[in-house]
Amino acid sequence: MLTLLTRDGGVVRAALRGARRRFRHGALIELLTEVSVTLFQKEGSDLARADGLELVRSAFGLASRAETAMLLPYVAESLSTFLPEAESAPEAYRLARHLLDSLEAGAPADLSARYFEAWLLRLAGLLPGGTECAACGRDLSTGGARFDAQLPGVVGNECASPGSVPVAGPVLRLLGDIRRSRLDDLVRRNAGDAASLRALESLLREVRRRFLGHELKSHRFLDTLTTGS
Ligand SMILES: [Zn+2]
Repeated sequence: MLTLLTRDGGVVRAALRGARRRFRHGALIELLTEVSVTLFQKEGSDLARADGLELVRSAFGLASRAETAMLLPYVAESLSTFLPEAESAPEAYRLARHLLDSLEAGAPADLSARYFEAWLLRLAGLLPGGTECAACGRDLSTGGARFDAQLPGVVGNECASPGSVPVAGPVLRLLGDIRRSRLDDLVRRNAGDAASLRALESLLREVRRRFLGHELKSHRFLDTLTTGS
């Protein structure tokens, strides 16, 4: 059984035809390996049949480096958790490809992870908006801001409801920068100091937790990575 993120059809679950026979092609079905495949789907069926699997781009290099290896299961679990099944998601496909390409080019794992999370949560509608208050439209560059999970969005202190989470100025600026820029540009500009990245991580964690009610299973590997460095 495979979970595929497809260019045009979003997340698709498929049974691999002749899986036993193809077991020797294990490398093709490794996490976040890009493949070309023919999918057959009967009307009314949730499960597709996958045939003619061919390698397009391996993620082997990322899987064999400790810093990026821990990101792969987390990225895969995030995509299959936050994207609805069988709904076209071309932006999410481009996001995943851009993330993997940037990591291969040596982008730091923490900045890359925050970039991916911020964009995926935005695409999932859980962290929309930019640098204006999601309730009254005021520019948030001055005065305090908070994340309101009910809306959802970032609002000024004046519009915040009880239980909302404070968002510090540097975090808001980094979030704005992530929305305006490609990951490779952020890497070139050396965007996001360690403290802002850590604070952004807490905010994004909170956004996920308020929506899911729990943290993703694979996230603990990232904690290990942070603690270990
Ligand atoms: Zn406001």
